[in-house]
Amino acid sequence: MRILMIEDEKYMAEAVAQVLKKNNYTVDLAYNGEDGLDCGLSDIYDIIILDIMLPKMDGISILKELRKNGIETPVILLTARGEIEDRVRGLDSGADDYMSKPFHTDELLARLRALGRRKSELINDGILKYGDIELNPYTLQLQCGDKETVLTLKESQLLELLIKRKGMIVSKENIIEKLWGYDTDAEDNRVEIHVSLLRKKLAQLDSGIYIHTIRGAGYALKTKDGK
Ligand code: CA
Repeated sequence: MRILMIEDEKYMAEAVAQVLKKNNYTVDLAYNGEDGLDCGLSDIYDIIILDIMLPKMDGISILKELRKNGIETPVILLTARGEIEDRVRGLDSGADDYMSKPFHTDELLARLRALGRRKSELINDGILKYGDIELNPYTLQLQCGDKETVLTLKESQLLELLIKRKGMIVSKENIIEKLWGYDTDAEDNRVEIHVSLLRKKLAQLDSGIYIHTIRGAGYALKTKDGK
């Protein structure tokens, strides 16, 4: 499980990260709202731990922005004790859970396990739809009407990312992060290769969906009838 923690209290964030790492989680830290949002948008995390009061961009705005961009990563909000309004706003904005600060790391670990379980329950019903296509990211099957094909893992991850953005542009950098992770020297042309393979499979299925290239910006899903 890969966790993103967005928290400006560095000492506290690092202490929590150490405990999580000991419990076999992979943890990335962001110390301000803008960096946190950038990381979150990469959609490579299983859970995001999000503080509300942050420099540059507050937690609630980050959460709204993530949900607006189709990122459905479970979010645990960190609130100061007694800030009931923040909790309500957070849950309304799409948070999955919240914790009052200061908290005990045992409680955080319990909540992470609970969210992890909920995520694996969702897996059974995780079919993604866009236009006339249906992708099952767990079996890698791509369906269009009565035609079906099987994608490679990378093609499926790429299509999943494009579907979740609902027709909005996905940058090459985002794709590289999602398919190969941060610590990678994957080149742009590897993205182009997978885009071109996926295009061929969509064409084989006679799908009305295609991958549009926006030069210098990235890729987006479009429908041939322009809807
Ligand atoms: Ca803070």
